This record gives sequence, structure tokens and C-alpha cells, in this order.
Amino acid sequence: MEFSLAGLVCGCAAMAAVVATAAPGGATALSVNLDVNGLVSSAVAHSAFREAARLWQPYRVELRESTDTPALTVTLDLSDGNSPDALGQSFFDEQGPMPFIAIHFNAVQRAVTQGRPFGIDGALAPEPVRDRVVARVLGRAIAHEVGHYLLRWEHHAASGLMRAQHRPAELADPRDRAYALTPLDVERLAASLRGPALAGLQSAAAANTAAAHQTDPGIERLEGRRRVAAAQ
Ligand SMILES: [Zn+2]
Repeated sequence: MEFSLAGLVCGCAAMAAVVATAAPGGATALSVNLDVNGLVSSAVAHSAFREAARLWQPYRVELRESTDTPALTVTLDLSDGNSPDALGQSFFDEQGPMPFIAIHFNAVQRAVTQGRPFGIDGALAPEPVRDRVVARVLGRAIAHEVGHYLLRWEHHAASGLMRAQHRPAELADPRDRAYALTPLDVERLAASLRGPALAGLQSAAAANTAAAHQTDPGIERLEGRRRVAAAQ
């Protein structure tokens, strides 16, 4: 069984590859609130966040945990989303990505069980091992959904982080070579960051000096939007 972070047809497979370029304008910071709903310990939550942040680091995007004025809220739930094998869900309306992400914890747990870390059923692994794998799978699911937000793109790549289908063994694998952006994704990221301001995105330098600010105008702008479409 493969787990899905997908559902929509990927329109990019037939497009020609382009040369990868780094995101322009220096590092970009994105503040994210991870609400685990008590489904995992805070240690697993932080570890999952670190995994997601680590996967975005090569592209000069800094994911920062924030509960005060997060741009993006990631919530763990026990729903099945659009299908039982869906690990996560992001949301778009006619103006683009919405600042909400859902991660479906039941599917994450099934992926851990089937991922067979160290050749054993993940559910039967010693707790520290199981926690590490749960954090890894969670982090990768979060990184994928954050990708939909950052790239402003509902679709899926043929390979890498933004592919639609993820084998449990890949999700659990300590090696992360299956979780890079494709050159075309990197182009999409650069184009997105050049575009109109995305809620909560700012240069890392500005984020460092703006910590005392109480409001984020980007969040206000996005309040009240309807959820009109979902992309897994
Ligand atoms: Zn997806």
C-alpha cells in the first residue's frame, strides 16, 4: 500500500526540466503553529517540526515554530481526509493556498506500522524507535503540505517531496533522498516567492527583528476565507 499526499492530477510530469535556481532575496522565514491535539508528545512534535524544517532548509526557507502569530497552522486530527491513506491535506480557494494544513494521524500511524523501520513492524518497535519514526513520517507529511502553500500549487510533482504517492518504507527511511524538491519545484518556489506577498512569509532577517510585533497583516487578510477546495 502506498500512502497518499495526493489526489489531484499532477500536471507537471510532461513539462521539460529546467535548471534549478535558489530562491531569490536571501532566506525566507515562515512561522508555523503545530497543534498536535494531544496525539503525540511535545518531544515528538518538536522532532517532527525539526524534520520538516530540515527538509526546507536547502531551499533557504526557515520554518519557525510560533504560537503567537503563526502564518500557517498545522493541525493533527483523526479524520480520514479524502481517503484512508491520505496523510495530509492542504486547502486552496480562488486566491491561492489557505493558511491551514491538516495531518491525518491515523494514516501516519499506519505508515509507521507498515514502514518496518529496522525490518520490524513499527508499532512493535521500542518506544524511542517508534517515536523517532512517527516524528519522521509526520515531519515529511508536514513538509509536503507546506510545499503546497509555499509553491502556491495544488498539484504534484513526478518525484521528490511534492510527489503524490509515498511508500511507507520511504516515509520511515532515515535517508531523505526521496524528499528533495525537483528542479521544477525549485523554479515554482522561486516564482512564488517573487509573487504577491504570501501570508506570513518574510525575510529571515526581518523575522528576527519583528518578533515584538503583535499582529501579522497577512493573517488578517486571509481571515474569513472559505474553504472551497482541498488538495491532499
Ligand atoms: Zn500533496
